[in-house]
Amino acid sequence: MKKILFAASECVPFVKTGGLADVVGALPGCFDKSEYDIRIVVPFYTCIPQRFSKDFKYAAHFYLSAGAYINNEYVGITEYQYGGIKYYFIDNKRYFSGPRPYGDIREDIEKFCFFSKAVLSILPVIDFRPDIIHCHDWQTGMIPVYLKTEFAGGDFYRGIKTVMTIHNLKFQGVWDIKTMKGLTGLPDYLFTPDKLEFNGAANMLKGGIVYADKITTVSATYAEEIQTEYYGEGLHGLLSARRGDLSGIVNGIDCEIFDPANDDSIFATYDFNNFWAKKWENKVYLQEQLGLEKDRNKYMIGLISRLTDQKGLDLVQRVLNEIADDNTQLVILGTGERRYEDMFKGAEWDHKGRISANIYYSEELSHKIYAAADAMLIPSRFEPCGLTQLMALRYGTVPIVRETGGLKDTVPPFNEFTDDGLGFSFSNYNAHEMLHTINYSKQVYFDMPIKWQQMMLRGMTTDYSWNSSKKRYEELYDSLT
Ligand code: ADP
Repeated sequence: MKKILFAASECVPFVKTGGLADVVGALPGCFDKSEYDIRIVVPFYTCIPQRFSKDFKYAAHFYLSAGAYINNEYVGITEYQYGGIKYYFIDNKRYFSGPRPYGDIREDIEKFCFFSKAVLSILPVIDFRPDIIHCHDWQTGMIPVYLKTEFAGGDFYRGIKTVMTIHNLKFQGVWDIKTMKGLTGLPDYLFTPDKLEFNGAANMLKGGIVYADKITTVSATYAEEIQTEYYGEGLHGLLSARRGDLSGIVNGIDCEIFDPANDDSIFATYDFNNFWAKKWENKVYLQEQLGLEKDRNKYMIGLISRLTDQKGLDLVQRVLNEIADDNTQLVILGTGERRYEDMFKGAEWDHKGRISANIYYSEELSHKIYAAADAMLIPSRFEPCGLTQLMALRYGTVPIVRETGGLKDTVPPFNEFTDDGLGFSFSNYNAHEMLHTINYSKQVYFDMPIKWQQMMLRGMTTDYSWNSSKKRYEELYDSLT
């Protein structure tokens, strides 16, 4: 039996701000339980819904010190069984209170230094010695560092391997060296350019990449891209040096949660026998709910996204008026940077009945949009994997994407002559190239409905589950144990 511990800062259904939570929540459940004992450790945030936390069971507690700034902090261990998986929630009210998992970056750095050391420290207490600790993103980057240094002496920890998965290289957890020494208690020799040092500061994700046995990211294309200066966020040299240990494994989605045939959130469920009529129904209901002009023949484009620079929203801004023509509606769901929130709110005002800007977070509305929209726009500047295009495809909604990272790997472009492809894509980060692609998609939608329908069907019948990627992770784990 292989024992694997997932360590992460978020996990569906307990706490989610983005795709990381979807992955950590879905992947562990895919492995064969007779071969893999996979457990998950995440912080016990007070914002975890009470319907879960009321059943968390206290297991033990102790006190932990790291550097001078983290002194005798309470580490509570609570356990919870969910979906056949054992979860550990690390409790510390000072660090994990508040309405959201993240806030001020300085505080986040401190709490995830604490969390990383706590994850290793609880293992003997819960009597679980994993063969592999699978770390996700910068918040867990210090785990491989601690394991190979401060924790390396003890018999218990000897031989534990680590995998570091990069879900987004943009976020690295960087702070000045003096503070980081104060937080971690790690010795001077670690804060050099070949280890944690980064542009004069200390970098938690870099530590994870240097010390992990294997590194993965969430698509083959992104694994290549991050070795280049444009996408490498300052770590391309290191990633390129470690390319022998770096692989790209594309994400799947939870096909039970995202299933148009069995989805309580949408107006009318459907499958590949009746999708055409039922998607119309979903569209008209959503138009009514959102105050858009009720007309099933409008071309409805959805955009579900964190509203940040990464997502290519400046391209959308440039050509918004051209996109929202007489035959087109745009439904936005997202939160993020104020300027994009204001931009979409303003656009809704300027294009009443054509644009609907929903500046909040709602799982339910996201499902309704996946079901109702004809197309999903994802023009990202960079995209490690992207899940929205997979969710869209599953609901028969055609993605329009920029050819980067996982978008490139999962959305082969439509070819009207050979009748294949799953969506529309453009290569350069350029507003008019995007507009041209959107206009071409409209042409196919309005003038070649049979080809459009066939493309929807291809999307709906492709397998986006974790089945094949799970095997890649198994191979990776097997190579380490
Ligand atoms: P990222 O992880 O960069 O945010 P992904 O495409 O990997 O992007 O994952 C985004 C996930 O978050 C998807 O499940 C998407 O449906 C969801 N999502 C994003 N914004 C919202 C929102 N405002 N309301 C509901 N779901 C959202």
